[in-house]
Amino acid sequence: MDDTYLKDLRAKGFRLTPQRLAILRILEANGGHLTPLQIYQQAVQQIPGLTEATVYRNLTFLAEQGMVLAAHVGSGQLVYEIAGHDHHHLICRICGQSCEVEHSLLQDLIQRFYEQTGFQVDTPHVTFFGLCPGCQGK
Ligand SMILES: [Zn+2]
Ligand SMILES: [Zn+2]
Repeated sequence: MDDTYLKDLRAKGFRLTPQRLAILRILEANGGHLTPLQIYQQAVQQIPGLTEATVYRNLTFLAEQGMVLAAHVGSGQLVYEIAGHDHHHLICRICGQSCEVEHSLLQDLIQRFYEQTGFQVDTPHVTFFGLCPGCQGK
């Protein structure tokens, strides 16, 4: 995470506490999905005395600010990831295998929604459930 980015945030009046910064850096370094517990386990090594409740509170805050994305994957489990690359998930109902698809694949569909209903979809992160190639026809 470069300093310009952090400076921008501060200029917007965004309070970057050490806890929030640690969470953002952990998610950025990981690049994928982490559960709140996994984030806590890494963050507490950098910030001794940190509590799980604090991590949960800050994750909620960062999600409200659009800095991180929250998603429900698999068995309704909540995971977080750094915001920035818009993508969606395809998750297999049977084996739980997941893959990512680029947001651009949905652009036409979203445009059609808009033409038909006037509704502007702004969700950069959607999970679709179905059957992966290996589980089809079982
Ligand atoms: Zn995701
Ligand atoms: Zn499967």
